[in-house]
Amino acid sequence: MTVNSAPRRNWWQRYLAFPLIYKLAIALVLGAVTGLVVGPEIAVIEPLGTIFLRLLQMMVVPVVVFTLVTGVSSGSAGQFGRVGVKIMVYYMLTTMVAITLGLALASLVQPGEGLVLPEGTESAPKEAPPLKEVLINIVPTNPVSAMVEGDMLAVLFFALVFGLALGVLRNSADQRLAGLGESMRQFFDAGAEVTFIAIRGILEYAPIGVFALLAVTLGETGADALAPLAMLTATIYGGVAIQILLYCLLLLLFGHSVRRFFSAAKEPMLMSFVTRSSSGTLPVSMRAAEKMGVDEGVYGFTLPLGATINMDGTAVYVGASVIFVANVAGVDLTLTELVSVALVGVLASVGTAGVPGAGLIMLSLAITQAGLPFGPVALVAGIDAFLDMIRSLCNVTGDLAGARIVDDSDRKKRRARKGVGTGRGATAAEPAQ
Ligand code: ASP
Repeated sequence: MTVNSAPRRNWWQRYLAFPLIYKLAIALVLGAVTGLVVGPEIAVIEPLGTIFLRLLQMMVVPVVVFTLVTGVSSGSAGQFGRVGVKIMVYYMLTTMVAITLGLALASLVQPGEGLVLPEGTESAPKEAPPLKEVLINIVPTNPVSAMVEGDMLAVLFFALVFGLALGVLRNSADQRLAGLGESMRQFFDAGAEVTFIAIRGILEYAPIGVFALLAVTLGETGADALAPLAMLTATIYGGVAIQILLYCLLLLLFGHSVRRFFSAAKEPMLMSFVTRSSSGTLPVSMRAAEKMGVDEGVYGFTLPLGATINMDGTAVYVGASVIFVANVAGVDLTLTELVSVALVGVLASVGTAGVPGAGLIMLSLAITQAGLPFGPVALVAGIDAFLDMIRSLCNVTGDLAGARIVDDSDRKKRRARKGVGTGRGATAAEPAQ
C-alpha cells in the first residue's frame, strides 16, 4: 500500500535543516550587497521586510503573557522560601544593573547617530507621558484593553499578578483548588510552548525579511548603515563583558574563587553561545553547578528559574538597542522615557523565554513602550543572531553566578541547622527545593 518508501528531502526540508545562523548570515550579506548594487529601486521588495516586522510584533503579547504566567506560577510555596527570596533579589538587582549598563554605554557611544532610514516602515512616535503617569499606568484598569493597546508595562504587571495568584492556587491545601490551578498552569505552559513553535517558524522566515529590510535600507542609505551596526554590536559585547566583571566582583565578595567558577562555567557558556538558548543549555549548566559544588537543592531550583526569568544579557541588549533605535529615528529620549524603558526591560527580560531570538521580541516590546518608530528594529534584526550569542552566554553566566552566590550565603545556615537539629528532624529544616 505504501507508495513513497524512499524519503528524499525536498528543498523546503533542506532549507529547514540548514542552520539558521548561516541562513541569517547569508541573508545579511546578500541583502547588503543587493541593496548597495541595486540602489533605491530595491524598495519594491519592502513589503517582505514589513511582514517580518509585523510577525515579530504579533508575538509580543502572547509570548509575554504565557511565559510570564508559567514562569511565575511554577514555584511551590517551599521553593519561594529562603533561597527563593534571595535569588529573586539577585535576579532583579543584576538585571537592573544590566539594563542600566546597556542604556548608559549606548548613550556614551551613541550607536546609530547620524543614520537616517528611508521612510515607510515607521509608525509615528507618540508623546511621552510624565514619570508619575508611567508609574500609575503600570496598573491597568482593564487588562484586555492594555493588551489591545499594546501597553506592555500594564500587560507585564497583570501577567505577574495573575501568575503569582495561580502559584498560590496550585499550592492550595484544598485538592480541588490545587487541581484546578495545575490544569490552568498546564494551559499556560502549553501556550508558551505553542508561542515558541510559532517563533521558531517566524525565524525561518527571518532570512527573507532580513534580506529585504537590509537591501531596502542599504539601497537608500548606501554603506552608511554598516558602521552604526558594528558600533551597536561592539557596545553590546562590551556591556556583557562589564556585566561578567560584575559577577566576578560579586563572587569575590562572597569569598568564592573566580577561577574555579569559570573553569566549571566555561562549558555552559560556550554551549549557550553556540546554541543561543539558555533553556537548551540547562542540563550542561546543572552539571557545571554540580562541579562547582553548589548544593543540588539550590541549583535544581534556581537554574531552571533563572533560565526562564533571569536574562541579564538580554537586558544589556534591550537597553543598548533602544538607544540605537532612538538615534536612528532621531528621537531624544527623556529621563522619564529612559526610566520607563528600564522598567520594561527588567520586566521584559523576566518574560523572555530562554530560546533563540526571544530577545528580539522583547526589544519590540520595549520599542512599543517607548513609543519609538519600528523601522530601525529591522537593522537590529539583521544582526540579531550575533547579538543573541553573547546575550545567551551572559544569561547563563548570570544564572550560574546566582546559584553559586545564593548557595554560598545559604550554606552556613544549612550547616547550622543540620548541627543543631540532630535527632529532631534536621533535614526537614532544609529547603524543600
Ligand atoms: N536566546 C536568549 C537565551 O536563550 C534569549 C534572548 O533571545 O535574549 O538566553
